[in-house]
Amino acid sequence: MTRVSMAAVSLLLLTAACTKSSSSPTSPTSGSSSSPSSWTLAGEVVATSGSAVGGAAVSFAGQQASTDAAGRFMIQHQSASSGQLLLSHPSLLDRRIWLRGGTSRTDLTLDPIALVAPFDLAFYRQMVRNAFEGTGQEPVRRWTVAPKFYVRTTEDSGTAIDSDTLARVRDGLIEGVAHYSPLDPPHIEMGAEDRPESNGWIIVRLHRRWQSGDPCGQATVGGNQGWISLYMDNCRCPGERSRMAVGTVMHEVGHSMGFWHVSERPHILSVPYACGRVATEKERFHTRIAYRRPVGNTDPDNDPSTAFASTAEAAPVVVSCHP
Ligand SMILES: [Zn+2]
Repeated sequence: MTRVSMAAVSLLLLTAACTKSSSSPTSPTSGSSSSPSSWTLAGEVVATSGSAVGGAAVSFAGQQASTDAAGRFMIQHQSASSGQLLLSHPSLLDRRIWLRGGTSRTDLTLDPIALVAPFDLAFYRQMVRNAFEGTGQEPVRRWTVAPKFYVRTTEDSGTAIDSDTLARVRDGLIEGVAHYSPLDPPHIEMGAEDRPESNGWIIVRLHRRWQSGDPCGQATVGGNQGWISLYMDNCRCPGERSRMAVGTVMHEVGHSMGFWHVSERPHILSVPYACGRVATEKERFHTRIAYRRPVGNTDPDNDPSTAFASTAEAAPVVVSCHP
C-alpha cells in the first residue's frame, strides 16, 4: 500500500471513529486569519467521564490552541503536513491521534481518558497492556466484529462431552462476550468434528485432564480469530456439577476479546485461578474504554498512524492460565 493510500485509510478510520454532527468551532487561542490556502481543525473534547474539558492544550504541527469552557477548539494551518495531534490536560491521559494535513475538519470529537474514578490507570495497563505479567506495552487487540464460536463437543479421544458441561460452556461464551466487549451476542455452533481456525471464529476445544500442573485453560489474545482450550476437571469449585465452571470459560473469553491477566481479586481475569471470582463492574468499565480505541492503540493512549490490520494476521499470542 502506498504512503498516500495508507494515509487515506487512516483518515477514513478516524472519520468513522470521531465524526459528529456539524459544529461551530469557537474560541481559537492561536492560528492565523483565514486565507484561501488555509485549512481548519476544529471540534470538541469530551472525556470518558462524559464531561467537556476546558483549558486542555491541543497541538498539531507546531500550532497550539486550548479548549474553551465547552471543550471546543480550533486550529488553522497553511502547511498541509500530516501528523499527530496531541491533547493534554492534568486531568486527562495524554491523547494522540493522527490527522491528514491539508483537509479541513470541523467535526472532531476527542474522547480522552479522564483520570478520575472509576478509571484506574494501573488496572487498565494490566488488562489492556499486559503490565502484570508482560511489558505493559501491548497494543489494543480488541475485536472489530462480533466473534463466532465453534465448540468441539468431543474430547481428543473422540468421547462425547456431557450436556451439562457443554451448557455451561455456552453460558460462559455468551456471558464472556457481554462482559468483555460491547459487541453483539455471539453466534455459537457445536459439533463433534474439529475445525481449523478461521477469520471471525474462535474454536473452543475441551480436553480431559491428564496430569497435575496442566492449566485451567489457554487462549489466544485478541482477534479477529483465535482458539480457546479448556481443561476439564482441572479447576472445579465446590458445588459445581459441570466439568467446566462458567467463570473459567469467561476468563478465557476475556483473553480472546483482547485482555490480559490482572493481579487484583476477585476479578474474573485475576490469577492464579481460584474459586470465588466474579465479573466485576471494574473489569467491564475498563473493557469499554479499550473498545472505544482502534486496534493498535498504544500506551498511554496513542492511535496508530495507519489502518492497523487485524492482529490475526500476525502470529497469535497465547496465554496460559494456571491454578
Ligand atoms: Zn488467563
